[in-house]
Amino acid sequence: MRLDTKAMRYLTVEDWKTLTAVETGSRNHEVVPTPLIGQISGLRGGVHRSISALAKVGLIARLKNAKYDGYRLTYGGLDYLALNTYRKRKDVYSVGNQIGVGKESDIFVVADEKGVQRVLKIHRLGRISFRTVKANRDYLRNRSSGSWMYMSRLAALKEFTFMTALRENGFPVPEPLAQSRHTIVMSLIDAFPMRQISSVPDPASLYAEIIAMILRLTQYGLIHGDFNEFNILIKEETKTETVDGKESEILTLTPILIDFPQMVSVDHANAEFYFDRDVNCIKRFFERRFHFTSNQKGPHFANARKLIGKDGVPRLDVSVEASGFSKKMAKELEAYMKKVGVDGDGDPNAARGDETSDEEEDEENSEEGDMEEEALDGAEDTIKVPAPHVGDSVIHSS
Ligand code: ADP
Ligand code: MG
Repeated sequence: MRLDTKAMRYLTVEDWKTLTAVETGSRNHEVVPTPLIGQISGLRGGVHRSISALAKVGLIARLKNAKYDGYRLTYGGLDYLALNTYRKRKDVYSVGNQIGVGKESDIFVVADEKGVQRVLKIHRLGRISFRTVKANRDYLRNRSSGSWMYMSRLAALKEFTFMTALRENGFPVPEPLAQSRHTIVMSLIDAFPMRQISSVPDPASLYAEIIAMILRLTQYGLIHGDFNEFNILIKEETKTETVDGKESEILTLTPILIDFPQMVSVDHANAEFYFDRDVNCIKRFFERRFHFTSNQKGPHFANARKLIGKDGVPRLDVSVEASGFSKKMAKELEAYMKKVGVDGDGDPNAARGDETSDEEEDEENSEEGDMEEEALDGAEDTIKVPAPHVGDSVIHSS
């Protein structure tokens, strides 16, 4: 989905109040009745001008239910509310290019007021291809718009909470900078996903480092759950070293871990399954891509479990609950993801990358009548980070 920020500059104070009122009304209403929008916004009868302005640019959509007419927020409307929050808090000043289109998210390069580049990740949990599973189609068709918004918010909150905890404990992850609604802002990692790397000088040491990261996560009580070549960015750094008076350049590869909405506790009922899947994704990728097979079996979950809490490290699966992402939220999000078929980038059975182009997936999506307005346009695979053209999509508004 494109993030067209142009209309932001033209929204009036009343328009923003109206948009916020539709968001507030959505908490209790699938379709927010027009009089309620007037009431919540404080604009009463004066709300109609703003409603048509917002509907015209697609930030709210008119819907009829059996009893009355009303409006609901679109993903575009929710995007604007999040961006407006970032603008006010000075987290984001301008929006640049889209660098990633995942199954459940869109990734943009943005910049702060000083022009420092950051990454905006927008979670879009209702947007998946359903393929053949009829139950999912029905589930989604009957889903309330509230549920995809709520679930996308939960995914963003979960990702931000885990990224913060990991970062605080020295894991190589982006710096989490801000969170609003279904989005997060984090530091930009100047690196390619491992998926795009055709060869490395020393696969054995990179493999060891990546497996060590899985085990370190276990030590802190966590399993990534979607640990694979798409979610590991490989940072290349050249260092100059002087050995015996001679200067030489050494290339170091540092894996940076991203994408946390599917993290689970080591105490999860299917913990072993997720652990094994994470390990096997890496093994398979190293075999196929770098023709490297470790001469060590495992690691196996039973042994990895012995590392939990080793050296007195905190259990992050426990501490995230205290810092805002509750067990109840985790359960709700997991159940929804399961129902709508979210299974990460690295599910060996999921068609992805080589097998199915994004365009094909879009076509599948647009078959879902009610999703048409949210279909992707110009879907691209992840590309190298280009500099955003700061200035032409500055998100000022009145
Ligand atoms: P998804 O859940 O859709 O897989 P990810 O968080 O994995 O979303 O991001 C998708 C892609 O966007 C990544 O593979 C990577 O190329 C890019 N990306 C995400 N976060 C960053 C970041 N902080 N810095 C640089 N690139 C990023
Ligand atoms: Mg990913």
